[in-house]
Amino acid sequence: MIWYPYQQMKTMKDPYKIVDAQGVYLYTQDQKLIDSVSSWWSVIHGYKHPDLNHAIEDQLKKFAHVMLGGLTHEAVQKLSDKLKSWLPGDLDYCFFSDSGSVAVEVALKMALQYYMNRGETQRTMVLALERAYHGDTFKTMEIGDDEDYHFVLKAYGKSKNVVHIPTEIEALEDAFLKYHDRLNCFIVEPLLQGAGGMQMYGVSFLERARELCDEYGVLLVFDEVATGFGRTGNRFVADLVLPDILVLGKALTGGYIGHAATVANRKVYEGFYDDDPSHALMHGPTFMGNALACSVALKSVELFEEQDYMSKIRRIEAVTRREMEGFTDPRIKEVRIMGGCVCIEVNDPSALKGYQQFAYGRGVFSRPFLSYLYAMAPYIIKEDELVQILDTMKEWFATYRCGE
Ligand SMILES: *Cc1c(COP(=O)(O)O)cnc(C)c1O
Repeated sequence: MIWYPYQQMKTMKDPYKIVDAQGVYLYTQDQKLIDSVSSWWSVIHGYKHPDLNHAIEDQLKKFAHVMLGGLTHEAVQKLSDKLKSWLPGDLDYCFFSDSGSVAVEVALKMALQYYMNRGETQRTMVLALERAYHGDTFKTMEIGDDEDYHFVLKAYGKSKNVVHIPTEIEALEDAFLKYHDRLNCFIVEPLLQGAGGMQMYGVSFLERARELCDEYGVLLVFDEVATGFGRTGNRFVADLVLPDILVLGKALTGGYIGHAATVANRKVYEGFYDDDPSHALMHGPTFMGNALACSVALKSVELFEEQDYMSKIRRIEAVTRREMEGFTDPRIKEVRIMGGCVCIEVNDPSALKGYQQFAYGRGVFSRPFLSYLYAMAPYIIKEDELVQILDTMKEWFATYRCGE
């Protein structure tokens, strides 16, 4: 029996059973659906991509997996070399793990131990954002700020080691003034807060954060598990403002296999590089650097680069802006667009009840949550397919008039 995610099993309706998937399409026994969710924002090249399939098949002929404890292999070496040359600044040191949550945990452990290794043991606090989502493991729940996901944490009471602020420069400056000597890091989902409701904010907040982190010697961590690989219309937000630690996940493998990377800059790496064995990073997920995941991730990055994905994403944004221009409804609070992400926030979540089934009937797979109806399609989507997703959203509000 399968226990499904984020679901009350007692009232859950049957999930759609997928029997095949190709390009932007998911196939059930009787319907063909454009995947407007990209399987939780990860399938950027679409399903069953021939080059990605080949990359895995080639590696599979050698071996699927060996551990990284005392062993290494070409696939993981090539991927880390590629990321070193491809990522901005001196974000050169890749620690691999099997999921975004674990990669964030590793980033938080790195930030804490960086200061422990220097004897600054009072720096136990983390600064984070309101409405943040960083994963579902315990420490990531603690630095996240979303009761809808993590209300179970209430059992522990409020954490003394995390402070949450809104994305306002004044609140940021206040927090640094008040807590700077106890902070080890400031962690953010840069520009776009995904699971917290596709909240968008400006780069000036991040620029000020970088200045304050430098001024007070606090590490800046970007959780780009969702925003990385083009989703915000930037390759990485780290291209605009350089963090000390960058976390990648979701689209890293083109959505093929769970894998993630915590990438540190030279300063952080050197905080561990020492004659003292106790200064080592004591972490090692069993499946870190999995050879199938690394080989498909390398091919995914190569495709992104060679096929000019940034221009695909700019086109998605342009079409989305054109189609949503002037679209309003009394039930809608706000329409937000950034890069390859569009979100319609409604005033009352009941306005989205039944949408998934409505979209299914129109050949679109969608998964609204709370008061957010959004699309984050694979970047290979064609214009008419994207218009179909957006038309479905607009038709929903046109079909069901207020109060019905
Ligand atoms: C999805 C997500 C995570 C968690 O990744 P998993 O692979 O689901 O553990 C962490 N941070 C952000 C910003 C995410 O969107």
